[in-house]
Amino acid sequence: MGVRTWIESWPVYRQLTGSDPLGRGAAAKSAVSEHLAPRLGTADRIVKSICPYCAVGCGQNIYVQDERITQIEGDPDSPVSRGRLCPKGAASLQLTTGSAREHRVLYRRPHSTRWERLDLATAMDMIADRVIKSRREGWQWEAEGSRTRRTLGIASLGGATLDNEENYLIKKLFTALGAVQVENQARI
Ligand code: SF4
Repeated sequence: MGVRTWIESWPVYRQLTGSDPLGRGAAAKSAVSEHLAPRLGTADRIVKSICPYCAVGCGQNIYVQDERITQIEGDPDSPVSRGRLCPKGAASLQLTTGSAREHRVLYRRPHSTRWERLDLATAMDMIADRVIKSRREGWQWEAEGSRTRRTLGIASLGGATLDNEENYLIKKLFTALGAVQVENQARI
């Protein structure tokens, strides 16, 4: 490559002499970047969603390829976040595909120091047994002369990762069980 050709291929030279004075287009391209394509361009579809991490509810675009999530980015259409995500939300791909994500039911018995694996049906039965027992033991027909028909034996405290639909179902379930202590951390 001659000196002249080398100088002409220099991005700064092309920026100063060409049609791209801000160096954001043709002047910044190299032989390598010329052939780069956004990895999101191969996605089969984009699914609109909401970041599950906190009550701000930033909009997310979820990129799916071969029925697997390949990337999660801020949704520019969201009036809440306008395409932005904080570091937690920007890392939420790991929530779906991270190797640290636990897919099994783990149980630590009272006073035990180790976790044991349970099948889901067993765990669900254990939870149901505890709910029924606690509800019954905490049942109150009356309090201070008034009819209450409630239980103080169980309560629900939801987290920020619950979405509207899940909160709706939790409220219905716990109210039907007679619980009056139904709260959510993300209630703003
Ligand atoms: S991106 Fe950050 S601020 Fe937005 S909802 Fe998620 S955790 Fe909250």
